Amino acid sequence: MLETETESYPRRVYPLDAHDLTEEQIAVAFAMTSRRPEPFDEIARQVSQEKAAGFHERWVLGYGHASVAEHAVIHLAMENISRLACDALEDNRLASYTEKSSRYQLMPADFFHLPQELKQDRPLTSLFNDTCAQLFKDYHGMVDACIDHLKGEYPQREKERDSVYKTRLSRMATDSCRALLPAATLTNVGVTANARVLEHAVSKLMSSELEEERVLGEDIRDQARIITPTLIKYAGRNDYMEAARRAQTGLSNRFAQAEAVSSTPSNSVANRTARAEDARSNVKLLHWDDQAEERLAAALLYRRSHLSYDEIWSRVVDMGTEQRSQIIAESVDGMGPHDAPVREFELVDYTFEFLMDYGAYREFKRHRMQSYIPQPLSTIHGYEVPQLLVDAGLQQRFEDALGPVEEAYKQVGEISPAVAEYLVTHAHFRRLITRINLRECYHLFKLRTSELAHFAIREPILEAMRLAVDTHPSLFRHLSLRDYPAWWPFPQN
Ligand SMILES: Cc1cc2nc3c(=O)[nH]c(=O)nc-3n(C[C@H](O)[C@H](O)[C@H](O)COP(=O)(O)OP(=O)(O)OC[C@H]3O[C@@H](n4cnc5c(N)ncnc54)[C@H](O)[C@@H]3O)c2cc1C
Repeated sequence: MLETETESYPRRVYPLDAHDLTEEQIAVAFAMTSRRPEPFDEIARQVSQEKAAGFHERWVLGYGHASVAEHAVIHLAMENISRLACDALEDNRLASYTEKSSRYQLMPADFFHLPQELKQDRPLTSLFNDTCAQLFKDYHGMVDACIDHLKGEYPQREKERDSVYKTRLSRMATDSCRALLPAATLTNVGVTANARVLEHAVSKLMSSELEEERVLGEDIRDQARIITPTLIKYAGRNDYMEAARRAQTGLSNRFAQAEAVSSTPSNSVANRTARAEDARSNVKLLHWDDQAEERLAAALLYRRSHLSYDEIWSRVVDMGTEQRSQIIAESVDGMGPHDAPVREFELVDYTFEFLMDYGAYREFKRHRMQSYIPQPLSTIHGYEVPQLLVDAGLQQRFEDALGPVEEAYKQVGEISPAVAEYLVTHAHFRRLITRINLRECYHLFKLRTSELAHFAIREPILEAMRLAVDTHPSLFRHLSLRDYPAWWPFPQN
């Protein structure tokens, strides 16, 4: 414990230890500081688990002081859930996740979820099972074929141990062959969340169209109750979440019929080939602020000023571009490669539309400081054959492997479009829009344009960065990257 003893009110910084107190007791000790003069550890000593439960029943659940539940933290290990269900879980942005990587691990045979919704329909169950089992067979076959091909391209280094060499090639192969894995593929994920977030996650999952997600929601609720018996006691299905989903489906269907919207699916054959050109057409910058530079400069001048925003704004719009650029330049002076720019950068944002493959989407949506709206997973936008598979002469084999997925997707989709999503592979394109602020753009662009990033996400993010840089060069000239593209228009930091 840190204490400054010379003061009459000594500064103290110390942990409330979760080995001595339950998460619910800790949450109450923190909540009570609002009304009680004693130090936290003294309050904590007076709060039994029973008393804590009573407090939470009354204040958190009864009066809706839900923020108190944020002080109770839960770690949950989840194994063998489908990637589709994991996406729904990870769609709760205030929690922390670490997931089994399909880049670094070879998935075992038949490592997929079989949706219970199909149980009554034997032929459809067989179709689903056979389609996924075949994808896993093809995945293993193509990983081996890629490794053989890579041996010719990347000979073993001097003194490189056999196991290290094998792992090196295997990672390159799995990185590309993961494209064959369906969304039904299982995964493990470690989750750290506070009780408030988890309650929301449970409600969302239990309101899902998919049985696996509903059951996962119940399991999370039951296991989290061991740690916080009171705080997520009443988490459950939410009528509004279900109603909103139904309403949006109805609206979209009516809109599509009435307007005959230009939703002609992209031709999958075209998507299979033109790689470089596609990156351009697959990313659009939909909205940006014409006065972004003024907005950022005004925000930067605001924090340390006593002037109103209106006063600052009127002066900033009268300035020359050079003066505004100078303000921005001074605000990032001294920013190191691991530093984020100041929060004022969050006042400028961009809306993009992406068509990216499901593998890339799974990485993209992990960036929590954005508002992303994905469309359903489907096969209608086609897919892309990873370059390594083309180079290894496996393009036809890859296309043959994905052919049956489209048919199975169609047939299962007639029973349930939501269940059909399990069949969509990591290679298939998915469309989404997202709003990202300038500060998060710095983080996202730096991380996902790096050569360490998977190629499937690197391409669309490079293109998004090009669009943003073209639109607002003065806002991006201070961005330092790990790896600069050839077109980078500024001196490299
Ligand atoms: C090469 C590479 C390999 C990866 N491998 C794996 C893997 O094997 N498994 C896996 O699960 N993920 C993996 N990831 C994903 C990675 O762990 C992040 O989840 C993802 O990149 C999102 O980035 P982020 O967490 O930095 O920030 P964002 O969610 O984009 O948030 C932006 C910034 O806000 C702050 N922030 C946001 N949320 C919190 C929070 N809850 N607590 C504290 N600060 C926060 C941080 O400063 C963060 O950098 C990998 C990423 C890369 C680039």
